[in-house]
Amino acid sequence: MLSYIHAYHAGNHADILKHLTLSLILEHLCKKDKPFCVIDTHAGSGLYRLDDERAQKTGEADSGVKKILAQINAEKSSFESQAGKSFFSLIQEYYARGEYPGSPLIENFFLRPGDEQILSELHPTAFEELKNCYYNRRKFCDENGLNFIEPALHKRDGYELLKALTPPKIKRGLCVIDPSFEDASDFEKCGQVISRVHKKWSAGIIALWYPLVAHRSAEISMMKEQIAASVEATEPKILDVQMEIKRKEDMTGLASLYGSGMFIVNFPYQLDEELKEIMPELSKILGETAAVWSVEAL
Ligand code: SAM
Repeated sequence: MLSYIHAYHAGNHADILKHLTLSLILEHLCKKDKPFCVIDTHAGSGLYRLDDERAQKTGEADSGVKKILAQINAEKSSFESQAGKSFFSLIQEYYARGEYPGSPLIENFFLRPGDEQILSELHPTAFEELKNCYYNRRKFCDENGLNFIEPALHKRDGYELLKALTPPKIKRGLCVIDPSFEDASDFEKCGQVISRVHKKWSAGIIALWYPLVAHRSAEISMMKEQIAASVEATEPKILDVQMEIKRKEDMTGLASLYGSGMFIVNFPYQLDEELKEIMPELSKILGETAAVWSVEAL
């Protein structure tokens, strides 16, 4: 089932949590000169226009990226002075052009010559948009004398691609798994694929985004248990980050999103501390009926 279209949701609170965490991980990978690879299994369209009628219809960016940038522009936030500042300046730069960057462009921003990016997107329209987004990005980089790292684009099932490419040629790196979770089978697939990938690529960082929706709490717990059981560790190797922006009990429909989380296997050293510094302010700005967050190392 491919009915989910990210253009309706780009720049919402869930994107902010996901893309901030992703940027922090990439900042860590950039600390060493050694090349790294990024595999993004559910890439989406790459770039989103905030005046697109799909974005306008839901207005979700209003309670995500727009709220954050309003605080930054009013000089009421400390985001630009701590870890993650490159993410906040990146979304400012795109916002000035009426755009919000998806995970592929955020990853590409951090890549250096020698690094590698592999993307898969199954939806035919989103895949065409992704190709187009990279065509424009290459042109922009050429015109402005910037480095452009050519990604490998696959119109292919992201779970299959990840299993087939693991372990990658460049062993240092990250995979990003960001399904729409419209279908309950995504929870099971994530549990299975992550357990398998971790066995074959034990040093790889695996960053999974997951929704907080009341009617899926059992599936979410089972998925996390399956992943945790496959990771043998004498010290914490998994980081579970959550941000609730509404109270579960205030939700009118059980299927409504009241927040989201990131489940990260092999999280970089001190990522937990960096997030603990940012989350109080982030959740205060984005929280609607709640401003609850947690950062737990397992
Ligand atoms: N990661 C993107 C970002 O942060 O900008 C957003 C991705 S969106 C939540 C999920 C995407 O996965 C959709 O574009 C959908 O078409 C795509 N998709 C759904 N099932 C897929 C599959 N099995 N393999 C690859 N892509 C899939």
